[in-house]
This record gives sequence, C-alpha cells and structure tokens, in this order.
Amino acid sequence: MSELALDTTEGRIIDLRRETAAASLLPRGKAGGRYRCCACGKELIFSGPATPQSSFTPRFRHDGAEPGLDRCGAPGAHQADIQADLTVILDLRDQLLNALPRADVYLQIAPHRAGQRWELPPALIIRHNDQVVVIERPRRPLTKATADARLQHVRTTYGERSTHWWFFDHDDAQQYLAAGTVKVRPHGKPDTHHKVRPTAVQRQLVQAGGAVCWITSGTLFIPYGGHPGAYPALEGEDWSGKMASWAKDWKISHPYPADSAAWWGLVPLSLLALGQHTGFCPAPAFALMSALEKAQHGREAHRRNLAREHAQRAASTQRTSTKSVVPPAETPAAPLPVPPDAPTAPTAPTAPTPATTEHQPVPPRPTLPPPTPLRDVRPQHGRFSWRSLLPRRWHR
Ligand SMILES: [Zn+2]
Repeated sequence: MSELALDTTEGRIIDLRRETAAASLLPRGKAGGRYRCCACGKELIFSGPATPQSSFTPRFRHDGAEPGLDRCGAPGAHQADIQADLTVILDLRDQLLNALPRADVYLQIAPHRAGQRWELPPALIIRHNDQVVVIERPRRPLTKATADARLQHVRTTYGERSTHWWFFDHDDAQQYLAAGTVKVRPHGKPDTHHKVRPTAVQRQLVQAGGAVCWITSGTLFIPYGGHPGAYPALEGEDWSGKMASWAKDWKISHPYPADSAAWWGLVPLSLLALGQHTGFCPAPAFALMSALEKAQHGREAHRRNLAREHAQRAASTQRTSTKSVVPPAETPAAPLPVPPDAPTAPTAPTAPTPATTEHQPVPPRPTLPPPTPLRDVRPQHGRFSWRSLLPRRWHR
C-alpha cells in the first residue's frame, strides 16, 4: 500500500504508480497530516526523490521510530480488500481517461473514510465541461440501504443533473445473473443479445434514476427492458390457428429499462465508444435501442397485416362453402404465412428515416422514478398498446 494514500486536502486517492507527476508536485513529509493510510487511517509520510535524476521510488510510509519501518496496523484481510477495491476502480479510471482524454477523472473520497471498512468503494468522478458523471464499481454484494445512501449522497453533492452510473462486474455470478439470449434485427441485421435477470438492487438503482451496466475488460453491456406479451386481436384480425404463435412477441423499454420489464437485454459497447460523442454517453447503444424499437413497430404492422389476411381468407372460405357446391378439396389452399422466425420486414409503407436519427441527442437521465406504476404486460381485451404502459418520457 506504500503507493496509495488518501489526500485529505483534495479529498481524493493518490496512486503514485499511476500519477508520475505527483512526486514532484506533492509536499514531502507529513505535510500537516495531509496524507492518510486508506486501511488504518493513520497519518503517512511522503518521501520523494532528492533530485529528478534520482532512482528513488516515491512512496508513502507510516510514521515509525525506526527508520524504514512501514507497518500498517490494519488486519491483513482488510488491507487486501481495500487495495483490491482501489486497484479495480483505478484501472477503470485509466480506461476512462483513454476514452475521454479531455475529461478530469478522479477517485473521490471523504477524509473521514480513511481506515473505515466500506461496503462500496469510493466513486469515480468525471468532469467534462458542465457535465458531472459519478461512476460506482461495487465489488461486494450491495444492500438496498447502501445503494440508497449513495444515490442520495450523489444527488445532494452533485445535483439532480449529474448522471450516476453503476458498473457491475460481468464476470461475477452474484452481480450478473444470465438469463439466456434474444434474437434481434436492428437495421434488418440479425444479431443475438444476451439477457440478464436484474437483482433487486439493480432494479432499485434504475428505478431511482441511476443507470446500470456491466463491464468486462474494455466492454460495457448497456441494458434495455424486455416486456413479453401477446397482441390482442383488433377488429378484422384473426389470430387463431396458425396465427397463434405470431401473437406472441416482446416490446422494448429504453434507453433505461422500465420497472415492469421481465428481463433486460444487453447491448455490448466498447468502453472507448463512450468518448466518441460529447462527454460521457453510451450514445451508440441508445441509438441501437431506438433501432430495436423501430424494428418492433415494423414487426407488429407486418403481423397485424397477416392476421387481417387470415381473417379475410377465413371469411371467404366460409362464403364459398355455404354458397357453392365446390367440394372443399378443390378449394385453392390459402398461402401460409412465413414462420415467425423468418425476417419480418414491415409490409406497410413506412417513411424512410434519415440517417441522423442514429445520433439523436439522448435526453438527460431522469432522476425520478416513473410517475405512475407500470402495469404488467399481458394480453388484455380491447385496444391494447404496450407504449401506453410506458411513462410519457419514453414516447417518441
Ligand atoms: Zn495503515
């Protein structure tokens, strides 16, 4: 831990291995109690090289009577936990600095937390122009109380306009509950997305206005909501017989999953893509979700067309069999609809969408839960629309 210290003056973590300029900028010695050990909370002494040419490795050490003594009083397991937490989040900081070279990215911590056992490591702060993004990287199971307290703290400290992201570990079976896959066709191109079953706390975070994603190496997985259901028959539609399986479908809620989502689908996104737009924003992932919604409208229009054709065929078959004497065997066979898995391009004419929709600005993350509780998405009687279940702000 000799390279790590809590800087009480700046309220941030110093890591001498990553901040090579720090050695020449930081005051030496005790500096009035400025440096604290993150594990035991005691004051630290900063030693730097005597000259820029010196090969001395700058370090923090505990105050001890004997020269060279550097023993931390905290239990070994606690020291290891703190060091692992800080290493993981500082690695993430380095990755984010690559993605957002013009942003200020630092690990913020309140001085009183020095030496405390924390459930949730200190958060990364990204400042870019007027934008403030707070990033959490939980490493241990998160309780609702801890999540609530941190959400509240961030809102109070950085204001309602700040964005609060929670990066969960994609390779941690307690944080990532795999739930199969879903076939998708954004822009008519077939693809498969992984589905995840969010934990109660992950749902709570999104409900409270936070944003959740998973991370592994340099890839993020950004979630949208999946709402399975069935199309209720409108006037003039027949969903019986071979059409029955076509009635079953799912709908998307995005750019953040709605509370009533049965599962969350995941859009993979390179961490480096975060900086391709102004500030921190997973814009390509959000654009892809819009494409999924567009495909969904096309799918619904196509299937409803088939259901209407099915109804018309049934009606004409009935007329034929009651009015004519032609035996049923000679009735021309009605063409069967293509199976549900086949490409489902909309048959209804749709206006071409300008390419600019791919990069529409994304509205700032709402910081309040949906204004009205969302109903369960299940087939209902009468005119039904999934969109009507979503809060107004998700309507486009
Ligand atoms: Zn210590």
